Amino acid sequence: MNYKADPELLKNRTVLVTGAGDGIGKIAAQSFAKHGANVILLGKTRTKLESVFDTISSETNTNPIIVQIDLANAREEQFKQLTVAIEREFGRLDGLLHNASILGSKVPIESYDTTRWKNVLDVNLNAAFILTRELLPVMRKSRDASIIFTSSGVGRKGRAFWGAYAVSKFAIEGLAEVLAQELENTSNIRVNSLNPGGTRTKMRAQAYPAEDPGTLPMALQHMALYLYLIGPDSKGITGEKFDAKTWEGF
Ligand code: NDP
Repeated sequence: MNYKADPELLKNRTVLVTGAGDGIGKIAAQSFAKHGANVILLGKTRTKLESVFDTISSETNTNPIIVQIDLANAREEQFKQLTVAIEREFGRLDGLLHNASILGSKVPIESYDTTRWKNVLDVNLNAAFILTRELLPVMRKSRDASIIFTSSGVGRKGRAFWGAYAVSKFAIEGLAEVLAQELENTSNIRVNSLNPGGTRTKMRAQAYPAEDPGTLPMALQHMALYLYLIGPDSKGITGEKFDAKTWEGF
């Protein structure tokens, strides 16, 4: 991979990351801040967000903000208030990384619990839709803004027992495609999907308990692609599907 982000790639930019307290989202938030972004850390568990906040505050001169929201039960009103707060604090939003997800159950469709199914769709899909819709006006104020939807291999080809998770990722790909087309000639907002592929995190360990985590790449190894897509170097790229495993930079 030969893309190397400029150390000031995201200077004076504001980026929101969902699921910023752990896993890939945490590393992405820290990486964006290291490249100059003011990062809005959205997540469920306050203590985890505080720990990311402390790391960013001690390692950078940026202004991180914590937004504790449980995406399973989020109310539209919370997203509306968030949009108002972002506009007041930063004037605009330049990047949005939809990263938060839950795995749900790994069982056949035939025995998938209805409440669980809806819960997965709420976190992985519905919250991303509502958050995006509410944030679009403040993203339109950016010279060039980027939305990344996090997908998965099972969101591009179905696999037995991945149930609501796989379905939510197919839907995320659809949302990304529809939105990319709608915004292509009417805004400076680009929209792409990104499949990080097998990565050493809690979710991966939950999905593959027998796997040796040492065989997997760490989230840090994907950051060139995350930085490329969230920052201005990817201006003009929209409606594309990226795969961290096969991306070679340029
Ligand atoms: P993790 O489980 O490690 O982290 C998920 C993050 O999402 C956590 O910060 C978690 O917060 C947050 N989150 C979960 N539920 C909610 C909620 N209800 N409200 C707000 N935040 C929530 O997952 P990964 O880092 O592995 O995954 C990141 C993304 O990458 C996901 O979209 C996943 O589908 C995708 N992906 C991951 C792969 C992998 O191998 N790791 C492979 C392919 C795709 P908290 O810790 O507080 O619960």
